[in-house]
Amino acid sequence: MREDKIGILYVVATPIGNLEDITLRAIKVLQQVDLIAAEDTRHTLKLLNHLEISKPLISYHRHNEEIKTEVLIEKLKEGQSIALVSDAGTPGICDPGEVVIKKCIEEGITVIPIPGACAMINALIASGVDTKEFTFLGFLPLHKKLRKEKLEEIQKSQKTVILYEAPHKLQTTLKDLSVFLEDRQIVLARELTKIHEEFIRGTVKEIMERAESLKGEIVLMIEGNHEIEIEKSFENLSLEEHYKLYEQQGIPKKEIIKKIAKDRGLSKNDVYQEFLEK
Ligand code: SAM
Repeated sequence: MREDKIGILYVVATPIGNLEDITLRAIKVLQQVDLIAAEDTRHTLKLLNHLEISKPLISYHRHNEEIKTEVLIEKLKEGQSIALVSDAGTPGICDPGEVVIKKCIEEGITVIPIPGACAMINALIASGVDTKEFTFLGFLPLHKKLRKEKLEEIQKSQKTVILYEAPHKLQTTLKDLSVFLEDRQIVLARELTKIHEEFIRGTVKEIMERAESLKGEIVLMIEGNHEIEIEKSFENLSLEEHYKLYEQQGIPKKEIIKKIAKDRGLSKNDVYQEFLEK
């Protein structure tokens, strides 16, 4: 795939577990490029062996991204075409890639995405939570203040929020989420595309009860905060409309009165009284 003047950087998605989740186009590109830049060359070698592809590999990971970007740009300028892959899924999504891609664009080098597996998208499409609008936050920061800010953002988000998490940090993350989310629905997707693939649905507390024994790779999806939508709109509603809004959600009568009182800053008796007067 040597070009006359300048090479192309292909950003190639690879499987997230099941080795069959790689496109025909991705295989073709891996066969044709001059060089493969991989997050972990030993890991990628296993995939290449499985695909019976033999190619020179160069390491490109978080800790050498800046230096290796220079090397890759030089090779691209010499006319070599390069496939960039990460250990699993789509490069650049919580994986290295950004630095060399930005540099290529600066230098006028063509960057071509080769689509394929991505854990967050596959978790989302089978989750049952709202897919129209969502926010992907990757891994929650470990720094206390930044973490609190993100948790507050999740608390307020009216959109579905997607998080990545490592199994050994899952309990801590769920505990932190439980402080901010009360009874919001969560879907935990585990071991996607692998033998033990599983989707667990429930409130944070319900998920926490199961989480102790959970192993493997995890995506968390948190449904949007619909309370905020209600809070925003209730001021413009008549008492009857406000009642119907909750009734449609299947909330019991007594609970509805409690909620309306809270929303409108009234006592439950005031709400009953208003209903009686009407
Ligand atoms: N680039 C990858 C992608 O496209 O999804 C993500 C890489 S990030 C370093 C690794 C995280 O992705 C894991 O900690 C987990 O949260 C998520 N992940 C990767 N593979 C997964 C799988 N098979 N099932 C569930 N989550 C997965």
